[in-house]
Amino acid sequence: MTPQLTDKYMVTIAERLTSAYARIADAAKIAQRNTNEVTLLAVSKTKPSEDVIAAYEHGQREFGESYVQEAIDKIAQLQSYSDIIWHFIGPIQSNKSALVAANFDWVQSVDRIKIAKRLDSQRPDDKQPLNILIQVNISNEEAKSGCHRDEIDELADFINQCEHLTLRGLMAIPAKSNDLDTQIQSFEQLQTCFDKLKTQYPQVDTLSMGMSNDVEAAISAGSTMVRIGTDIFGTRT
Ligand SMILES: *Cc1c(COP(=O)(O)O)cnc(C)c1O
Repeated sequence: MTPQLTDKYMVTIAERLTSAYARIADAAKIAQRNTNEVTLLAVSKTKPSEDVIAAYEHGQREFGESYVQEAIDKIAQLQSYSDIIWHFIGPIQSNKSALVAANFDWVQSVDRIKIAKRLDSQRPDDKQPLNILIQVNISNEEAKSGCHRDEIDELADFINQCEHLTLRGLMAIPAKSNDLDTQIQSFEQLQTCFDKLKTQYPQVDTLSMGMSNDVEAAISAGSTMVRIGTDIFGTRT
């Protein structure tokens, strides 16, 4: 028989969240940056609403989701938590864009004009403009998502002209590497793109990079938002 873990030995979501914040603070300190410059996005994909509530009760307000239908159900269940900020971070299929436009506050995975155009026309008039990050494919040849660096300008220009969208910055998921220098090199490429974009668009303020595996490298290269799932909610099945 498998012994049951008692509460005493269980690491709670609250404790993991505290550790995640401490890790961000340590990384910021090493990078000689202010911790307040880095937002933690808690990635709750595949995890139940109860887990989101546990994090919420510990002060977490920004949550990331990758699968449209699962996210819509969760957002509906958590409607009374009206100050949660929902970020869509997964690939967007055209036939799901209306649901994304209507239910999220941010979309971090816009990588083509066609999707930007749909989100703009489908964003309900009674809502604030949708905050948009352009997903860039850095150092990840296999990945199907993310535009090439050379395409950022054209996409940014398009998004900037959309009435229902606000361009806020860039997002990337580099190829997985356990080598710190390799991680930093990828993130610095994105940082260069971000610095340029900021000079063109004053409202651009968000560089979303860094996950459970590479928070330190991302923060050293100027990340303003790290997206952490596993370290907060545990492994996904
Ligand atoms: C799942 C996911 C994350 C979280 O990854 P972890 O390794 O669990 O921290 C971050 N960003 C994106 C885009 C994801 O899909």
